[in-house]
Amino acid sequence: MIKKFFFFFKSLKVTTFLTDVFCFTLACVVLLPTTVSINRNNLIESKKKEVIKCCEEIARKIYLNAYLANKGENTGITRDMRTTADIYGGRIIIIDSNLRCITDTYDLETDKTLISTYVINALNNQTAEYHDEDNKRMEIYYPISEYTSSKEEGLNGVIVFSFSIAKEYDETDKLGKSLILIIIPVAVLVVVYAIWHSRRVSNSIKKVTNSIEHIREGYIDDRIVMNSFVELEEMTEAYNNLISRLQSVEDSRQEFVSNVSHELKTPLTSIKILADSLVMQPDAPPEVYREFLGDINAEIDRENRIITDLLELVKLDRKNGELHIATVAVNEMLEILMKRLKPIAQAQNVDLIYESYRKVEAEVDEVKMMLAISNLIENAVKYNKEGGWVKVTLDSDHKYFTVNVSDNGIGIPEESQKFIFDRFYRVDKMRARKTGGTGLGLSITKSVILMHNGQLKVDSKEGEGTTFTVKVPLSFVDNRSN
Ligand code: ADP
Repeated sequence: MIKKFFFFFKSLKVTTFLTDVFCFTLACVVLLPTTVSINRNNLIESKKKEVIKCCEEIARKIYLNAYLANKGENTGITRDMRTTADIYGGRIIIIDSNLRCITDTYDLETDKTLISTYVINALNNQTAEYHDEDNKRMEIYYPISEYTSSKEEGLNGVIVFSFSIAKEYDETDKLGKSLILIIIPVAVLVVVYAIWHSRRVSNSIKKVTNSIEHIREGYIDDRIVMNSFVELEEMTEAYNNLISRLQSVEDSRQEFVSNVSHELKTPLTSIKILADSLVMQPDAPPEVYREFLGDINAEIDRENRIITDLLELVKLDRKNGELHIATVAVNEMLEILMKRLKPIAQAQNVDLIYESYRKVEAEVDEVKMMLAISNLIENAVKYNKEGGWVKVTLDSDHKYFTVNVSDNGIGIPEESQKFIFDRFYRVDKMRARKTGGTGLGLSITKSVILMHNGQLKVDSKEGEGTTFTVKVPLSFVDNRSN
């Protein structure tokens, strides 16, 4: 039960709705009483000011007519005070310095002694006020000071003006009520808005969830169209980009699988045809057997090469494909390579030249780097002409080392140059087959160079020759986890 309750509040829809309603309620709870209270204080304050003005006027008359000294015997002033008190629905009491009430417009306290802190304070020349909220009344204690002509201290007194503030309370209560009447339809609108807002938020998220579910079911071409909040639009854009990326990975995976199947099937089909023809002619002479078995052997070698290259690529493809980085003397590494490849070049009657401009030491995975450069040199020999040459040069600056592999072989047509790094791509399938090409060599080389944060470029002219340039940083920086 408690779990269900918390689950309810974990819902984005519910919390969005409640937040909207809560904000509005909070605004009402704070603003409504504050507005009413400010308004009421303003009204009371302006009435108080009026009353103090009246007190000033009465005090002036009392002073001018020596009302206190005459013990309130000036009937004109007393009448004026009654009129003023009536206007404000109130009562005026005059108290002298002996705390004796000399005038009371209600005629209740006349001649009585009236003591209160407020009266004492007013006799000490401090205007005081008392706010009686329960009875909606206010009292002003206004000091009167009189001096004799000989400047001796004369008589002091206090005007107590008590007046009603019920009208101000009524007016502000009415204001409060009319504000509530305005708030009710606004509250209905806020609830409608909160429902719409919470639905919009939750529906947008649901849209993304549904799309993810759809993709999980295999519909990878699904895209989300979001016309909602900016942040959600940005999120769906990032999501759609991710899906596009996934789709292109999936497309290339499918293409790769179909290419692999095709490539692996070709030697097997040849083997099958060769084996079938031998089975069909049991009396074939031994030379035919030898020739066919030789062909079968060559196809098995080819199948083997494809599988070896594929395994190499799979190893390199793994995101965290291991690199055994060490400081390697690149000159020596290339010399070993040249020695190893010399016989192949000689067999093709191709001249293999190596030139190094300086001693180079770099942080690389020696085995993988040798494989990458070896593929380039082998290609330069394979796709060469009788009596051609292959030149390998090594140079470096303070940041990179560069290996150039140039040949004066058959070259690569311009339109094919952008595809040669693709897996299984071969310019001339027949020639590649004859030379044992799998179409994977340059993909392997490119992967290795990229793993070393390097660059691989090709410059070639059909019929004239090709130059591959490898540029690799001397110091290795591991960026693969980013
Ligand atoms: P392969 O195993 O067929 O050699 P690669 O990936 O190494 O596969 O090369 C892809 C294709 O690029 C080759 O089939 C060939 O057509 C072309 N190629 C590569 N290197 C050279 C070169 N030095 N001269 C001419 N063509 C080349």
